[in-house]
Amino acid sequence: MLINPKSDGHVHTRLCHHATGEMEEYVVAAIDKGLAELIFLEHLECGIRYREDTWLSEEDFAAYHREGQRLRQVYGDRICIGLGVEVGYNPRQVPAILDFLQQYTWDRVGISFHYYEIDGHHYNVVSRRKANLEPLGKQGVERVISDYFATLLEAVEVLPGTVLCHLDAVLRHHPEVHFTGAHRRQIREIFQGMLGKGMALEVNTSGFSHRGEQYPAAGILDEAIALGVPLVAGSDAHRPGEVGRFFERLR
Ligand SMILES: [Zn+2]
Ligand SMILES: [Zn+2]
Repeated sequence: MLINPKSDGHVHTRLCHHATGEMEEYVVAAIDKGLAELIFLEHLECGIRYREDTWLSEEDFAAYHREGQRLRQVYGDRICIGLGVEVGYNPRQVPAILDFLQQYTWDRVGISFHYYEIDGHHYNVVSRRKANLEPLGKQGVERVISDYFATLLEAVEVLPGTVLCHLDAVLRHHPEVHFTGAHRRQIREIFQGMLGKGMALEVNTSGFSHRGEQYPAAGILDEAIALGVPLVAGSDAHRPGEVGRFFERLR
């Protein structure tokens, strides 16, 4: 099997301040959907200056691990529960990120890049808000995308990641988003880096909601498969009802 449709390896909870639902509600939803495994992948960001915190604090992460252990005691005979982290990469904060990751055991370390810096301010590259899209567009869509892939390649090289998340979601809400041949070569380099580290590529089914196709798009996915990059599934649920969304389309 190319991908395990019984495992949802990417869900968030109210702990990140932009999702809803308790961890337990996600576990119950996963059991109801007939999943065999659910991996929480909560947001970590370091040194980001943004209008709101979209990630967990140190205390939130402590509570997260405590609750995860409790849920394993209660539901462990019905479903395998993993505690992971979605690391939003920040090239300026590598030591802080590595220090933090060492504090816990993680079942999955997802790598993403959410915040692009312009003149000391950060802008969310996956946001639909004008306050993000306008300055990023001004910077230049092609440039932001090539910086995004270059930064992701660095993240693959320097972080102990196990999965790369929503690879081509960059500027997903920008009308001019377009990948050039140079971008495609950057993606190939990322895949080579991942192969060297034994990382898997996430097939993120939230794309079906946003654009009618998973992240990454079929052409990119085909290339990953041809290169032998392993695939894992993630719904990127931000509500319990989204657990395992569109997994019937994974085949
Ligand atoms: Zn999120
Ligand atoms: Zn993400």
